[in-house]
Amino acid sequence: MATTYEVGNDIVSWCTKCKLMLDHKIVALVEGLPKKAKCKTCNGHHNYREKPPEKKAPGTSRKTKKSEYEVFMAQVEGDDFSGAKKYSIKGNFKENQMVDHATFGIGFILTVLERNKVEILFRDGRKRMVQNR
Ligand SMILES: [Zn+2]
Repeated sequence: MATTYEVGNDIVSWCTKCKLMLDHKIVALVEGLPKKAKCKTCNGHHNYREKPPEKKAPGTSRKTKKSEYEVFMAQVEGDDFSGAKKYSIKGNFKENQMVDHATFGIGFILTVLERNKVEILFRDGRKRMVQNR
């Protein structure tokens, strides 16, 4: 049995403002299906959403899987990072070199992309940085 929806009916929708599944009123229908809803909690109008957005929460995958950086760190465990070269845009880096960045911390040069561009793996992930400037 297909449900018949009507404008003004109560419906439970994901509220994009409250970030919760809440009671809404149907505001607009498209081909018999709820299209827009009004939140009874915040009175906001937004598209009807049957389910919360399937957004991957940051860090969710890291619980089961180690990040690239953690894997790398495990490999070099015990290494002395005092040899890490201070990162500077004037620097000239080579692959597999360790760098010490003022903001991002210890990183590893993964690839020299161009003469003045390198890809570095930091705790935050891969970043493209300039060199030889
Ligand atoms: Zn709301």
